[in-house]
Amino acid sequence: MVWGLLIVCILAIGSFLFYASYSIASGVYLKAFCRANTREKVVALTFDDGPDPIQSPFVLDLLSRYQAKASFFCIGEKAAQYPEIVRRMYREGHLVGNHSLQHKNSFPLTPYREMLADLTQTQEILEGIIEAPVTFFRPPFGVTNPTVGKAVRTLGYTTIGWSVRSLDTRGEPVDRIMKRITKQIRPGAVILLHDRLPDSVELLTALFEYLQANEYKVKRVDELINNYAL
Ligand SMILES: [Zn+2]
Repeated sequence: MVWGLLIVCILAIGSFLFYASYSIASGVYLKAFCRANTREKVVALTFDDGPDPIQSPFVLDLLSRYQAKASFFCIGEKAAQYPEIVRRMYREGHLVGNHSLQHKNSFPLTPYREMLADLTQTQEILEGIIEAPVTFFRPPFGVTNPTVGKAVRTLGYTTIGWSVRSLDTRGEPVDRIMKRITKQIRPGAVILLHDRLPDSVELLTALFEYLQANEYKVKRVDELINNYAL
């Protein structure tokens, strides 16, 4: 009986810790902005893991065609490799944020000092390119834990999560990804996308068509924070 109770407790604590680390919206270790509190039909588009030398310029072209401003959470080493794309993102009115130096699988397990150095170096690379402060951060894989929380608080970042996870990295057909996205879209949604996939542009075109047909406006994530914070 006692053992049974103990096992139930361990399982409950285990699943809570899993939820706390793997759900960006849990806010257990780190408060992240995941959606705006509004009934107005506004959404934010966010792109992770760029800049990509092939896909990012196409995504930027499309955003410009639809006169939409988005947010790009860039990987430091890629930004250093393709600074002109990051410069273009910023010049065209998009938000540029920190998404760690290399997006290593081991990032969430990195010791505090190393994590601080990783994020600081990324910030310096991005700020050197856009010549403006970089204060927004999205954790790689959306994973948070006490170390990520401490590093982010030390650096004073605003952490951005999401309310719509497209899972566009799975390589599924665009219509299936679209179905997943449209099922989750609500006023104030923050949509997680990637500007490094072969069908990034096809997906974004379909998404813009949906947003226009349903009278959604696209805003930068910081605009959502400033105007409709929870
Ligand atoms: Zn990522």
